[in-house]
Formats: sequence, structure tokens, C-alpha cells
Amino acid sequence: MPYTSHPVKHGFAPALTGWYLASHRDLPWRNTNNPYHIWLSEIMLQQTQVKTVIDYYHRFLQQYPTIQSLAEAPLDSVLKLWEGLGYYARCRNLHKAAQIIMSQHGGEFPKTLAEAEALPGIGKSTAGAILTFSYGQKHPLLDGNVKRVLSRIFDIEEDIQQAGVIKRMWQHSTDLLTESDDPYHYNQAIMELGATVCLPQNPRCLLCPVKEFCSAQAHGTQHERPVKSAKKTTPHFDIGVGVIWHNGKILIQQRPAEGLLGGLWEFPGGKQEPDEAINETILREIREELELDVTVRELITTVKHAYSHFKITLHAYHCDYISGTPQPKACDAWQWVTPDELSQFAFPKANKTVLEIVVAEWHKQNASAPQRIP
Ligand code: SF4
Repeated sequence: MPYTSHPVKHGFAPALTGWYLASHRDLPWRNTNNPYHIWLSEIMLQQTQVKTVIDYYHRFLQQYPTIQSLAEAPLDSVLKLWEGLGYYARCRNLHKAAQIIMSQHGGEFPKTLAEAEALPGIGKSTAGAILTFSYGQKHPLLDGNVKRVLSRIFDIEEDIQQAGVIKRMWQHSTDLLTESDDPYHYNQAIMELGATVCLPQNPRCLLCPVKEFCSAQAHGTQHERPVKSAKKTTPHFDIGVGVIWHNGKILIQQRPAEGLLGGLWEFPGGKQEPDEAINETILREIREELELDVTVRELITTVKHAYSHFKITLHAYHCDYISGTPQPKACDAWQWVTPDELSQFAFPKANKTVLEIVVAEWHKQNASAPQRIP
């Protein structure tokens, strides 16, 4: 049966809200109506689990307690605080949006959906969540959790990534919310259901407070929902990078502000070409991008890492500087730093693993070096 023919789910909203009020998790952003705090939590929670977010959330607010303090902070420092949370475009957009709020909204998070949605990094569902949770407005949501719940409640047989299906799911989300006289708790509840009960792999239907409204559960299709078209195979790249040493310092470069991992620091290097040995990749990339000559020494480590659309294996080698002055052709800036100074810069995860090994080795060597007698 096409899901569009299912009847309206009368009673869904009160049942879900009642369950939430009786049994929800106590999370820090649920004890405030400060739009800045709620906005920050909504952005951090995209692609990241609650247990990871909590510490970052507290540290972030301690460092930048107001939108103004965030807007005035250098992007480098904000990225450093975000380091390890991934999806760094979220952080750059947050910073940019804080500056827009200061310059165009008098430092106050906007109160209309249109204005909130116009800010960088804030889509319709995130805007709706912020305005509901901070200003008590009534807006439907459609984030990843809600899409999964609705795909099961309405037993949606089509690919939920199709534009037409997304449009109809917005309508379902709106219809279900219409019956609620408590949008704050209803919206918290539908997100909580997706996060704790209607789980992606193993939905806990026996414990579900809205199982009698769930068409997928009735048809036994809940494990087949949501339907998503098969993903293309994720490409994989081997990346060679050099930790270039010169007079006790290491060369690091800053990625261009826009694009993947924009604004973060890294060790120079790049993608391995077909039929190229990895040490040749490192020599070539460093010559092409920085116009430096180096020698490649021993392997430091290899690190595997997955991004949203591709995977990499990072091969990191110690290198020695020979000649040249770094030319920032493919980066925004470069610096020679001591191993101890590396912790002041924000690095993407795979590079961070490399630098931790380098710093640990360096400390070990320094500790075992003979001490000079004064
Ligand atoms: S009954 Fe199962 S599939 Fe349906 S909403 Fe509840 S947990 Fe999800």
C-alpha cells in the first residue's frame, strides 16, 4: 500500500510527549532556553553522538560564553577548540554566523525561520529546532533521526533521499506536530525516540511508546526502513606526508579557508599517483606545493581515516629539509614550529595521530639525551 494513503495518526503526539516527559535523558542543552547554547548543541550534534558532544559543549561555552565572544575570536582558536569533533565546516559556519548575528541582528539570535535559515550552516530543520527550543515556537523537524522515525511510522517504501519523498515527509512532520499543544516537548520527544528507541539497526519496538501508530511495525518491515538507494563504493586514496625537520623545528601548513578541513593545519604532502612509490609522492608534493627539496627518511606511522565521501590511508615519514623557501601555493600559510608548539594548532584527526607520535618520540629522545652538567 502506498504510504500516502495511511490515515492521520491521531493520538501520536500526546503518546510520544507523555513518554518523553516520563523518561527522557537529562542533557545540558535541555536545561536552558538560551538560543546560543541551543544553536551550539544542535550544530555539534549533527553527525556526532551525544556522549562525545557533552564535553565539547561545556568547553566551548566556557571559552566563548556569548555570541559576541565567539564572533570576536580568531577562527584559528575556535577551530582548535573544535579539534577532534570533525566536520569542520560546522565550526567555520558557526563562527561566520556569529559574526553575522553581531553585524545584522544586534547580537541576538534571530526569531524568524527565514532569518535563522539564512545563517551559514543552519538548515530548515535546525532552524526549527532552535526556534522551538529557545523561543517556544512551533516548527516541524526533519533531521536524520526524525526521517528514520517517520519512514517507519508511515512505512515509506520509497528512497527517503528523493526530493518528492522529502517533501511528503515534511508534510507528515507538520501533520503530526499540528496535534501537539506542547511543541517544545513534542520536538524533543521525536528526536529522543530516534536517538534511543527507534535505532538505525535494531529498533526497540517492544519498548516503543508509539508502536501502535507504527505501520512498519505492523507490517514487519521496520528493519527495511528507511529505504536508501545503494551508496556508490567509497573511493580510497593513499596520502603521503612529510614531517620536515630543520634546526629542531617542523614545517606545518594551513589548509585554504574554504573546502574540506578548511583552516586546519597539517603536514605537507598529497595523493599518491598510480605507479608511484610513497616516498616519491612526498618528494613530488613538497616540491610542487612548497618548492622545497627534502630527503625522505623513515616511516613514522600509517593512519587509516574515513571521511563522509572517501577514505584515506595516511603514510607519514620523517623528512630532512635540504633547500628552498616555502611557497604557499596550495595552502594559506606555513610555519616552522618546535614539537612542543604543535599543540597550539588545530589539526585534522589523522594528522593529529601523527603529531602525537612525533611529540612522544621527541620527548623520549630528549629525556634520554645526556644532561649537561652546569
Ligand atoms: S515501533 Fe519500532 S519501528 Fe516503529 S517507531 Fe517504534 S521503534 Fe520505530
